Formats: sequence, structure tokens, C-alpha cells
Amino acid sequence: MKKALVNKIIPFSCVDGPGNRTAVFLQGCNFSCQYCHNPETITVCENCGECVAYCKTGALTFTAGKMSYDSSRCVLCDACIRHCRKLSSPRTELLSAQETMERVRRNMPYIRGITVSGGECTRQAEYLKELLRLAKAEGLHTLLDSNGSYAFREDEELLDLCDGVMLDVKEADVQLHKELTGCDNQQVLDNLVFLAEKKKLHEVRTVVMAEHFRAENTILCTGKLLKSYLSEQNIRYKIIKYRSVGVREPYRSRLVPPSDEMLERLGKLAEDIGFKEIIII
Ligand code: SF4
Ligand code: SF4
Repeated sequence: MKKALVNKIIPFSCVDGPGNRTAVFLQGCNFSCQYCHNPETITVCENCGECVAYCKTGALTFTAGKMSYDSSRCVLCDACIRHCRKLSSPRTELLSAQETMERVRRNMPYIRGITVSGGECTRQAEYLKELLRLAKAEGLHTLLDSNGSYAFREDEELLDLCDGVMLDVKEADVQLHKELTGCDNQQVLDNLVFLAEKKKLHEVRTVVMAEHFRAENTILCTGKLLKSYLSEQNIRYKIIKYRSVGVREPYRSRLVPPSDEMLERLGKLAEDIGFKEIIII
């Protein structure tokens, strides 16, 4: 069974979907968003061993060209991450879906479901499907948090196994999306409509900055594409304020958080378009 590189598992989360949930974060993302506040989840550790010298607690070891991480000895000082030239993290675990589910089971019956996030969770699709299958067998609600780059319409099995997708629509303009993430947004916009059509679009998310990117246009375009679904479905719009914590330079110096007035105006816009539930955080 294929294993996945897991960055962390949060046993109880009330911000990763409805109710109390276990959130599983996978390592590795195909986007490199300027505003990413966990940039160490983007690339996969190359086992160079350089960060071991900076770990003062013995949580990291390097043997026969392979890194090992002992979470029980880690004090989360982030020294390893700060010194990684690949901007990665050695604090990952290679887990099978069964091993992950054993961790999830420890939190039952206090959770309603699981959310698989990242990085980008669909990058490890075989593991993902197996994990969702096991979670469903336990009666858990299943959600994915995705950057929308995966061709959901070509994977009926995945769609059947997940109850909903929280989809990032980062920028409607293709050139600006490329500038922001390093990739175009054709697949994202296709997924936006396809997931709504299949009643699997749980939430749309846009991070808002004061300058450079055009959140207003993104919300307008999203509303236009979802127009025929908004009256019959409650698709939540989450408008997220850009915050500089964890963001890499030079973006950190360049990106500007929006004002509260701007966020309120965007919330009103989403409401006028027809979104019934709007969260501004
Ligand atoms: S986390 Fe970075 S520095 Fe540490 S072993 Fe991996 S690639 Fe090397
Ligand atoms: S975050 Fe953990 S593994 Fe990394 S240097 Fe600090 S103690 Fe070591």
C-alpha cells in the first residue's frame, strides 16, 4: 500500500470544516503561493542531512543517507526549517492510510469527520483515496482542502469518497494567478463549476491582499461561474485576510494586508452575488 509523506496530524480542529475534525496535512505542493504561511510544506525533504546539526534535542538523526524524525523529542523550535536551503521540513512521517487511520481512531468518538489538507493533498491521490475509504467505513464525514489543480472530473472514485471540497480560488485572472502561485488557473475554474454541479463544493476560499491581486474581480468571476448553483445550494465563501506570519521574503515585505473596510466591502459583494454564508477571517 502506497504511503504518503505526512507533515502533521491535528487531532481536534474546529477550523477545517464543520464540527470537530481530525485534520491531516500532507507534505508537498505543486503551487508556490507568494502568501503561503507554511512554505516549508511545499517541497519534499531531499535528505541532505544538513539540518541535523541545528537540532539541539536529538529529534533528528541522519543514517545511511536518510533523515529520521522523533516527534517525542521535538520542541518545535523550527531551527531545522529555518536552516533548510530547500525550504523544506524534516518533521514529516511516511505513513500508510491504515497507519494514519489508527491515529484518527484515537480521536473517536469526539470527531465528526476528517479533513485532508496540505501542501496539496491530491498530490498523493492513491493514499488519499485509501484514507477516505477507511474513514467512510468508520462513518466519518470526509472533506478535502485543495488548491484545485487536480482533475476531479477524471477521478470518480475520489469524488465518491469525499463529502466535499474546500476549494481555493486564489485569483481569477490567469496571468495574476501564475504570478501568485506559479501555475495557471484553468483547472481550478473547471473544478469550481464541476464540483458545484456534483454538489461537492463545500466552500470557496480567497486570500485577500490590499494590492497586486484583484480579490474583487475574483469574487465576481466566482459568483458568475456559480450563478446557477447558488440559489439551490449553500456554498460558503471564506474571505481570508492576508497575514504576514511565516511568509517568505521578498513577498513578506511586498504584500500588504487589506483594511477591515475592504474585507467588509468584499463580504457585501459576495452576499449581493448570492452567497448565503460568508465568513471573513
Ligand atoms: S529538511 Fe532540508 S536541510 Fe533537512 S535534510 Fe531535508 S532538505 Fe536537508
Ligand atoms: S523543530 Fe524539532 S526537529 Fe526541528 S530543530 Fe527544533 S527540536 Fe529539532
